[in-house]
Amino acid sequence: MPNDCVFCKIAQGEISADIVAENDSAIAFRDLDPQAPVHLLVIPREHVNSLTDARNPLVLGDLMRLSADAAKREGVAEDGYRTVINTGRNAGQSVNHLHVHVLGGRHMAWPPG
Ligand code: AMP
Repeated sequence: MPNDCVFCKIAQGEISADIVAENDSAIAFRDLDPQAPVHLLVIPREHVNSLTDARNPLVLGDLMRLSADAAKREGVAEDGYRTVINTGRNAGQSVNHLHVHVLGGRHMAWPPG
């Protein structure tokens, strides 16, 4: 793990976060700068730079399962929500620890910007 990875620090409890759900290998918490009424980030506990580097299907499965479970827990599953994984520079990935954005509580436009 890189020493300066903010999401590793959240996973290890060194930086506080508003955690809403957890499973064996993933954690869901509220984004600091929400772009929708519900905006969660779902991360693997272990450090993975991006989706490109993700290898473990069990970790990826837990990540997606928790994304859906957290959306349900937050009350946006029925009306619908969007899951986004920004990967690399062109997609605007700003934190190099794999994360799923879970956005809900408002209508989402398509195509995305
Ligand atoms: P991305 O641009 O896809 O890499 O998304 C990174 C997200 O992490 C942004 O939406 C930030 O608002 C969010 N973020 C960065 N630091 C924190 C933090 N300490 N706690 C919660 N969210 C954070």
